[in-house]
Amino acid sequence: MDVRPLVFADDPAAPPLLYACGKCRTAFPVRTYREAARDHAETCCQPKPPEPAKLCKCGTEISKWSTTCQPCWNAATIAKAEVITDAPDIMVIVGTDSYYQSVEDAADMHPGAWVHPCDSIPLSVNPKHLAESLVETAVENMCGEAFEDAADHVNGEVALREAFEAALVTFNEAQTASSWQEDTSKVFKLPDAPVAEVAA
Ligand SMILES: [Zn+2]
Ligand SMILES: [Zn+2]
Repeated sequence: MDVRPLVFADDPAAPPLLYACGKCRTAFPVRTYREAARDHAETCCQPKPPEPAKLCKCGTEISKWSTTCQPCWNAATIAKAEVITDAPDIMVIVGTDSYYQSVEDAADMHPGAWVHPCDSIPLSVNPKHLAESLVETAVENMCGEAFEDAADHVNGEVALREAFEAALVTFNEAQTASSWQEDTSKVFKLPDAPVAEVAA
């Protein structure tokens, strides 16, 4: 804004060496910015035009990182999925992480909503991968002290890895926790009213 060309006082006729923004007085050297120096000074304090709002195809404003709004995303997800008519045992409301273990409870909170059925997946770790990374961490800071020479080092790592792996297999077999994994290829529609009212 209001660009001010700056020249040496003793050589005012020479081409400007800097262009300053007339408002904040920041100077942009021609040496650095070359032909763009004047433009930088010109646009320095100009208010930036607001970015145009990004719209979903339905017209709803969405964040610049999204491609659709949540309702359109949900509708597309539901349209792609196979509709099942048997109530699932475990379910999650489409587009959320609200899980329910009964249709009654789900319909109380989200009457008429669509849900994905969920499978119960037992918690487990990958013994081979985890054992490898455990050994890596364990020996990282103790090379040389832990194992006398290279051969011992390799044998030691193998023994450690096998021990960890066996322990992790035992862990997988012994643990009873599980988590729920939704099957997004299927959807089920909850009753349009809380189930107790339907029955009444
Ligand atoms: Zn400025
Ligand atoms: Zn939309």
